Amino acid sequence: MRNLVILGSTGSIGTQTIDVIKDDPEIKVTGLAVYGSVDKLKEQVEKLHPEAVCIYDEKKAEAFKAFGLPVKVLSGMDGLIEIATMDSCDEVVVSVVGMIGTRPTIAALKAKKRVALANKETLVCAGHIIMPLASECGIEIKPIDSEHSAIWQSLTGEPHNRIEKILLTASGGPFRGKKREELRGKTKEDALKHPNWAMGRKITIDSSTMVNKGLEVLEAHWLFDVPVDMIKVVVQPQSIVHSAVQYVDGSVKAQLGLPDMRIPIEYALYAPDRHPLPEDRRLDLAELAKLTFEDPDMETFKGLALGYRAGRLGGSMPTVYNAANEEAVAMFLEDRIDFLEIADVIEEAMDAHEKDIIPSPTLEEILSIEEWARNYVKTNSKIVR
Ligand code: MG
Repeated sequence: MRNLVILGSTGSIGTQTIDVIKDDPEIKVTGLAVYGSVDKLKEQVEKLHPEAVCIYDEKKAEAFKAFGLPVKVLSGMDGLIEIATMDSCDEVVVSVVGMIGTRPTIAALKAKKRVALANKETLVCAGHIIMPLASECGIEIKPIDSEHSAIWQSLTGEPHNRIEKILLTASGGPFRGKKREELRGKTKEDALKHPNWAMGRKITIDSSTMVNKGLEVLEAHWLFDVPVDMIKVVVQPQSIVHSAVQYVDGSVKAQLGLPDMRIPIEYALYAPDRHPLPEDRRLDLAELAKLTFEDPDMETFKGLALGYRAGRLGGSMPTVYNAANEEAVAMFLEDRIDFLEIADVIEEAMDAHEKDIIPSPTLEEILSIEEWARNYVKTNSKIVR
């Protein structure tokens, strides 16, 4: 029997995690945390009977208490940390969006809880803190991201010093093959139409700009301890090859499957074992008939090139890359900047930060630089109207 706590339980990864483990009597959900979706949380509590819940938003937590359910109700960052470290927690799925996931992840590691991580920001901004801490605590961070799960699976049983390249695949998003001129005036409705994956709004926009891939390069750099320039992005429009590893003998190992997040979730929870998933969704290679690959267009999708730049500069720069992107995406969704300006806004903030890079920022410094980058975009940007 193991006890699972899900941070971000009503989001896309959280709900699919609950779906993956629903028939497993060996896993008990003991804690659920959300930002503010109390109605959905109520349904989950009635079904799963956790011991504790955390609602990050204090007011919403009060609203939840009014339901009068027999469950301990926590709130705020303290609540997130408490639920991730409580005795009746063996393993935490961190699927909250944003920097909010970092402190609970650190706390969980220190409390020797297993961590399945679906929160990119934590590694992108604080990988230099998280990875040494995880190894010090003897805990392997298990990625819940289709690409990183594929890399992890492709690395299993292989010597680290024989890796030649990580081949990180990208779908290319809804604007693959388009040139800059064609992307002028693209609206959020266009950008939100992802060809293969059904995901949250923020990550779908990140996929259309390829900033998601830039963040994933940084994530892979930390998870697998390889320099960013050993990570090559390959566009794989069908989203079937979820990533691969090339070894020094030229051999390439990949993981394939239908685009279905339940597989990386399942692998993170059960590896090195595998847990059955419903047979209605299987990859049929003959039916698929064709897999294609291409190099990414880093000029059109400057957001990806900026990810490499942030990774090469390192230190606090990935935090600026991530935070400026979050602000830019929010502004794009509010129709305040154009599609192509998302990357311009990120670049502007990175340029402004370059002279002030902190080589190995503390968590406090990361949070203050995040704040600086958000404010810079909101108040100093010459691009935002
Ligand atoms: Mg991914």
